[in-house]
Amino acid sequence: MPEHYTEPVTAVYSCMAGTNSSSPRCIALEGTVGEQVSCGMYEARSTSCKEVQIADAQCNKARKAHNMIAFVPIEAPPAVNDEDFDQVC
Ligand code: SF4
Repeated sequence: MPEHYTEPVTAVYSCMAGTNSSSPRCIALEGTVGEQVSCGMYEARSTSCKEVQIADAQCNKARKAHNMIAFVPIEAPPAVNDEDFDQVC
């Protein structure tokens, strides 16, 4: 990760540049919020980034900060026919 992608929070901890402000926007975020965004360093993102899951409290907090409606978590049943699947090509 490029060094300028992080900024110090304390003498010990750092965060992604741009995320420790009243109007946060991570330096690695690409695109337009509310339209289409992606992480520019997805494979190398931090553990704290990996902990955020779609529709969890942090996700919906960020969505609310950008005037977007909250996601509602849903439970998907496990696939039941994976072993019976016939590959056709
Ligand atoms: S997932 Fe990517 S864009 Fe989002 S905060 Fe982490 S590094 Fe930044």
